[in-house]
Amino acid sequence: MTVSQTPFTATVLGLPRVGPRRELKRATESYWAGRIDAVALHRVAADLREAQYAELTAAGLDSIPVGTFSYYDQVLDTAVLLGALPERVAGIADPLDRYFAAARGNDSVEPLEMTKWFDTNYHYLVPEIGPDTVFSLHPEKLLDELAEARGFGVPARPVVVGPITFLKLAKATEGAALDRLGELVPLYRELLRKLAAAGAEWVQIDEPSLVTDLTDDEIALVRSTYTELTAGEDRPAVLVATYFGDPGPALAALAGTDVEGIALDFTAPIELSAVASLPALAGKLLVAGVVDGRNVWRANLDDALTTLGTLLGSAGGVAVSSSCSLLHVPYSLEPETGLDARLRAWLAFGAEKVAEVRVLATGLHQGTEAIADELAAARAAATSRTEDPRLADAQVRARLAALGPDAARRAPADERRAVQQARLNLPPLPTTTIGSYPQTSAIRLARAALRKGEIDEAEYTARMRSEIADVVALQEKLGLDVLVHGEPERNDMVQYFAEQLDGFAATENGWVQSYGTRCVRPPILFGDVARRAPMTVDWITYAQSLTDKPVKGMLTGPVTILAWSFVRDDQPLGESARQVALAIRDETVDLQSAGIRIIQVDEPALRELLPLRAADQPAYLDWSVESFRLATSGVSDATQIHTHLCYSEFGEVIDAIAGLDADVTSIEAARSHMEVLDDLNAAGFDLGVGPGVYDIHSPRVPSVEEITVSLRAALKAVPAERLWVNPDCGLKTRGQAEVEASLANLVEAARAARP
Ligand code: GLN
Ligand code: ZN
Repeated sequence: MTVSQTPFTATVLGLPRVGPRRELKRATESYWAGRIDAVALHRVAADLREAQYAELTAAGLDSIPVGTFSYYDQVLDTAVLLGALPERVAGIADPLDRYFAAARGNDSVEPLEMTKWFDTNYHYLVPEIGPDTVFSLHPEKLLDELAEARGFGVPARPVVVGPITFLKLAKATEGAALDRLGELVPLYRELLRKLAAAGAEWVQIDEPSLVTDLTDDEIALVRSTYTELTAGEDRPAVLVATYFGDPGPALAALAGTDVEGIALDFTAPIELSAVASLPALAGKLLVAGVVDGRNVWRANLDDALTTLGTLLGSAGGVAVSSSCSLLHVPYSLEPETGLDARLRAWLAFGAEKVAEVRVLATGLHQGTEAIADELAAARAAATSRTEDPRLADAQVRARLAALGPDAARRAPADERRAVQQARLNLPPLPTTTIGSYPQTSAIRLARAALRKGEIDEAEYTARMRSEIADVVALQEKLGLDVLVHGEPERNDMVQYFAEQLDGFAATENGWVQSYGTRCVRPPILFGDVARRAPMTVDWITYAQSLTDKPVKGMLTGPVTILAWSFVRDDQPLGESARQVALAIRDETVDLQSAGIRIIQVDEPALRELLPLRAADQPAYLDWSVESFRLATSGVSDATQIHTHLCYSEFGEVIDAIAGLDADVTSIEAARSHMEVLDDLNAAGFDLGVGPGVYDIHSPRVPSVEEITVSLRAALKAVPAERLWVNPDCGLKTRGQAEVEASLANLVEAARAARP
């Protein structure tokens, strides 16, 4: 190594930033509401960073990531770093307001698009690269945070999103974004010079895109880019971080350059022998992600030490790390006093993962005697976990094993259509909604009051029923054909079910950033899933008792329940999906017995769990589709099954959508101008479909004319007998008045369009 650097031994790849008590969320929202000024917001952020650095230093990390803090999103920060904000926000003079305008829009500008960060539940903002984008370097945020951390005496390692990943994630309005790589490399080179001058010994460049399928040309770009970036000595040592998978051929390309360090994710399926036998690693620091940064299980220290030991002989040095940024897990187990003690001992959140990293580094470099107590504790936890009866519910397993190959099959779709139509007698172009109605303050107050014990279960039920009655009455008044109960009793479409199913646990404070200031609290799936009792039947039958029109039963599908939970790591995800599917199947049968004629099983996350590499996708699509079919095939032909999909580019899963075999699929389509219908047709889809005729993400009320235009476009692709009319998604984030006005227009447009 030519660049002067001391290898480090224990680190993590990135840090959460919303604050252990979501302090940054609150402060940011206060800033948006005009209650605090920028100085106060910066103060909250600086205090959070200071406390975090102190904790990490005390925990014994000898290299600490700096610059993964963000007011909204790290990809947006990179766009700022590279001068790549869109032209439409350029006129906003205040940098913070310009930044937030790009993130969330304002009265006059549209925000950047948002999409999922690889296969996680974190959303990043999609940079827009146009012909008029002129890249330029703006490293102030990173340099300031570096100076701040060094001021605290922190062994700071600045982190940036790398040029290849940045461009792969960006959207080019012309040509391919990656064609612009040549313009970025000199800027990163300049950045490295500045960071060295500011005292950084190491810099981490995140390139998670290297774990996706890359063309040979792209792999050549990996080689040339990092060869150029590491030319010369006026720079810090460069650590290129990959995570969420195996970089495969990109690893050899990267190892062939002069980068001083490479981070690999050993919690993902990765060929250890291929890594260990790579001669080019000999002179480099291998940062081994053996502590899972995106799930909540306590590490198996013995296994991790074996992996680390294997690597030790192959690399110039080995540092222990989390597999990815700790952004994806809650801060600490400490506040989780409500978890049962056994389960708690199986878990590691952010703070506990940092401790694991330290313990493993000590074990690796000083021998296992130095960590004897920690090893014993980890082994005891592992034993307690494998021996726990909740991990294997004999009844559930026997039921699944007994299901024959036809258990997940219904009669042919046209036979079902005939009996369903005879029973439901719906007009052509039937109108419906996706499920939720506005979450009013009365609903939120009732939930809070129940939690605080101010009202009892009976009073809560009464209040929810009154909400349901209002929603049913409104739909009757509007003249919708298929009604819903409005979902007032659901805090969240996954947590609501997780709370009622065996095998799931909920946390009190396990918040994880989903995007910007939005945080979610994913349930933890730790054991076999079983349904103790009906979960939704009382609410839906109450709603149905108020009207003669059909009310849809409303359930969340197995894939979505798993996608938005922390899942078991001791069995294949497909197996967990079958268990959840069985529970949902039981619920559909109970709903049917209670007289419910239509049941919707939402799978908005179907696309999200799609594996990053094409070779892994067919297996996923197989089990995800099978689990949906298992969940929805226990009912009779006369019961109409609906599903709902959103948030996506459906291209890659279009065949799977047909495979779900739902009688009716409602699907996000307004923003893509119904293009999804042509894709469905091309895939041979011939079931009922309700392409969203207006975008519910905006408060704007769509006019009758506008909805009519959408309907005409839909009718070009789908015959009237199969077409349903509905909004793009649930209405829970919308206001009461806009919902009423929008749906009135929707009903009017549908009626006029009927043949
Ligand atoms: N039924 C849910 C709702 O209407 C669906 C939400 C979703 O698609 N994410 O809110
Ligand atoms: Zn939706």
